Amino acid sequence: MTRSTVIADLENDLIQVDCLEILATPEAQERFSRDSYDYSPVLRQQLEGCQSELVVRPFTVEAVVAVAASCSRYGVPLTLRGSGTGNYGQCVPLRGGVVMLMGALRKIRHLDPATGVVTVETGCLLRDLDQHLSSHGRQLRLLPSTWRSASVGGFLAGGSGGIGSVRWGFLRDPGHLQALEVITLQDPPQQLQLNAVESEALNHAYGTNGIITALSLATAPAVAWQEVSIDCRDWSQAVDLALRCVRAAIDLNLCSVLEQPIVDLLPHWCGSPSGQHRLLLLVSPDGVGTLERLAIETGARIVFVGAEADRGGTGLRELTWNHTTMHMRAVDPDWTYLQMLLPQPELPALATLKQYWGEDLLWHLEAVNQQGVQRLAALPIVRWRGKQSLEQLISHCRELGAVVFNPHVITVEDGGLGVIDGDQVAAKQRFDPHGLLNPGKLRGWSSRPAND
Ligand SMILES: Cc1cc2nc3c(=O)[nH]c(=O)nc-3n(C[C@H](O)[C@H](O)[C@H](O)COP(=O)(O)OP(=O)(O)OC[C@H]3O[C@@H](n4cnc5c(N)ncnc54)[C@H](O)[C@@H]3O)c2cc1C
Repeated sequence: MTRSTVIADLENDLIQVDCLEILATPEAQERFSRDSYDYSPVLRQQLEGCQSELVVRPFTVEAVVAVAASCSRYGVPLTLRGSGTGNYGQCVPLRGGVVMLMGALRKIRHLDPATGVVTVETGCLLRDLDQHLSSHGRQLRLLPSTWRSASVGGFLAGGSGGIGSVRWGFLRDPGHLQALEVITLQDPPQQLQLNAVESEALNHAYGTNGIITALSLATAPAVAWQEVSIDCRDWSQAVDLALRCVRAAIDLNLCSVLEQPIVDLLPHWCGSPSGQHRLLLLVSPDGVGTLERLAIETGARIVFVGAEADRGGTGLRELTWNHTTMHMRAVDPDWTYLQMLLPQPELPALATLKQYWGEDLLWHLEAVNQQGVQRLAALPIVRWRGKQSLEQLISHCRELGAVVFNPHVITVEDGGLGVIDGDQVAAKQRFDPHGLLNPGKLRGWSSRPAND
């Protein structure tokens, strides 16, 4: 049987399935084969031409099961897609096959009033989930800056942290993910309920080792976050103030530091450029006074203080994390970026890199909680000068002690610590024994010995 006959037979099977939309047009196949990988010129070249052969949208878990059964029966790759905002080509189908849109599975099933743990279907948008939680006095602990458009399933399987990471660390830290409902890629598929320990192997695995239909997450009590932005004349003063803020006894939800040339190019709601470096913070109401005090003590200038709730669609959070890169690329698409955890102390490494790379490297820092310790991460804006230059910069950062999370690679491992996670591979063996889920993205599976 040729590949096109296999896809035609698969489509014929799927036409019979209730609550399943089939999008068979070339436009849909192209549109749903891309995500936000275009921030990386390396990935742009690598992923060009990767395209699905069929796109489906299930409206029920039963329809998901039917798609899993058919893909398994015909041996056709299956790639899951939330909102397609990932930056690593996570939901680009490297080997064609079916792309399954998870966005119509969006029920919020349960909010436990005693613990605040919420159970939700994976296509639910983070914005909708957070809104639901806020009407019950709760909120999500972690949000990507794409929180308006991204799905909770895509965040869990493809994201890592963001707004809230200064307090709550990262999604893979124990305590956030409490349980998963998973459909396996077997014929017949199994529907499994995994506890917190079993769920970890599917957390940030790019949908390579199970179809997640629902998840349970811990939440936090709602806080009426206040926005504070502060200008600093010197870069060292800005970094020093950020460290003082995160070490103070206040409840912070965001602490970003932007080098002056970035501030000049951000949208108007960042405030007028002042020729200075800028801190953007979210803090609980009782922490505003302390931030003002710390700013005065370091000789910095408060630019703006106000309730986040009053800002409508243009809050400070939409200037941070990878939104900073997005805004810079809107001005000049030749900018790209890197991600890293900075060595401590941070200033000498920042200064050395700046001295060497000059205006090709603009600093954007984010304060994070890394396994219980307050650290600074960096998502520098980098002028694209070719792959070799990018690799030299990555090596330079590593030589200085930074831990680089390379956003110019396609596998789970290479975008993380570079290490194969045996539990992720073992879960794939159990839940996707024929290796059909998002093939090519889990290096530990592709590189396993042939007889495994
Ligand atoms: C401007 C910008 C800013 C960003 N800021 C952040 C940030 O602050 N923090 C951050 O972590 N990321 C960030 N990202 C990356 C991305 O937006 C987030 O990770 C987002 O949460 C992904 O959600 P999504 O619904 O778009 O997922 P998708 O891109 O659709 O999918 C991501 C991965 O999850 C898998 N997947 C989706 N649904 C399921 C499912 N049901 N079961 C199993 N696997 C599934 C997909 O196959 C894919 O591998 C940013 C991206 C952009 C473009």
